[in-house]
Amino acid sequence: MELEDLVLPSVAALTPYEPGKPIEEVQRELGVEPVKLASNENPLGPSPRALAAIRQALADLNRYPDGGSYELVRRLGARHGLSPGHIFMACGSVEVLNLVAYLFIRPGLNAITSEHAFAIYELVVAASGGQVRSAPMRAYGFDLEAIAGLIDRDTRVVFLANPNNPTGTIYRRDQWHRFLSALPDHVVVVADEAYFEFVHATDYPDALEDLAHQPKLIVLRTFSKIYGLAGLRVGYAVAHPNFVRLLHQVRQPFNINLLAQVAVREALEDREHVERTLANNREGMEYLERELARLRLRFVPSQANFIMVDVGKGRAVFDALLKEGVIVRPLDAYRLPRHVRVSVGLPEENRRFVQALEKILGRAGEAT
Ligand SMILES: *Cc1c(COP(=O)(O)O)cnc(C)c1O
Repeated sequence: MELEDLVLPSVAALTPYEPGKPIEEVQRELGVEPVKLASNENPLGPSPRALAAIRQALADLNRYPDGGSYELVRRLGARHGLSPGHIFMACGSVEVLNLVAYLFIRPGLNAITSEHAFAIYELVVAASGGQVRSAPMRAYGFDLEAIAGLIDRDTRVVFLANPNNPTGTIYRRDQWHRFLSALPDHVVVVADEAYFEFVHATDYPDALEDLAHQPKLIVLRTFSKIYGLAGLRVGYAVAHPNFVRLLHQVRQPFNINLLAQVAVREALEDREHVERTLANNREGMEYLERELARLRLRFVPSQANFIMVDVGKGRAVFDALLKEGVIVRPLDAYRLPRHVRVSVGLPEENRRFVQALEKILGRAGEAT
């Protein structure tokens, strides 16, 4: 017997998640400091207050962290006007995705999402032996009606990202409420709101408002994006206390490390850092949209801190940009072979991306 024969066939067949190319790796290969616009990280760095708190906590690293993240759960509950029992802290919001699949999916059951949705949804469902069904998109956005149409007796979870990664699109309040009102009783809905803070559309639904009457809804937020703490791995879920209790039953005992707990506590209070991040994103996005239009490239208008651009041959442009020291994300794994996804960086980083892209496309133009 091979080792692979001892696991679920859906697990043996999995391809691991492909993260953005690390800066160090490109630097080794290229010998120059690259610009990384590949993982939707905060280009301003972490909150200085979070860094100070980490420095202060270093000497306590011989101690286990608070297993219940008491202080964080209390503060986040207060922030959302909910009891602490509604908050579940996680090692990145992807931990919650894992736990939801672990709790509700097993062989014979299925989960629904959209094509071109965040790649982790498919991975966690396959890891639990379930089947994933993906509804087609409409204009690069989730089609909640088509998603609802795929639900059957064996469906247990619907995964939605709002805004979605990699498309940057959102579904609107009226679509969301129509979807919720027709939802069968045996289905859990995951509303992944990793980019919630960046959204500027006025008809964007705040899924937290629906928790009171939706005991099977779970909303995900993260400290990896606007708070600039992706390296610490902290996210959280907001759901009915009964749902949170189930998550606690299957999580690891100390899933939020000590440095993460003190840093996040401070980052939450650093309104100035969040405002600076939003301003940088707004200006960077305007710049990118303007320049992409000048280069006559089509892009999908984004509500997040990244933008998806139709460059014709995504993988080739990704490789060429890499040689120019600019790391973006190719999207062939998302079945979007014409596109790349570019995170909004600092003004100088955005300029380097545009200059490199213009150079590459100019060369391609001469060749034809
Ligand atoms: C980045 C991202 C996350 C955040 O993951 P963490 O584990 O919290 O770092 C979650 N969902 C989507 C759609 C994302 O793009």
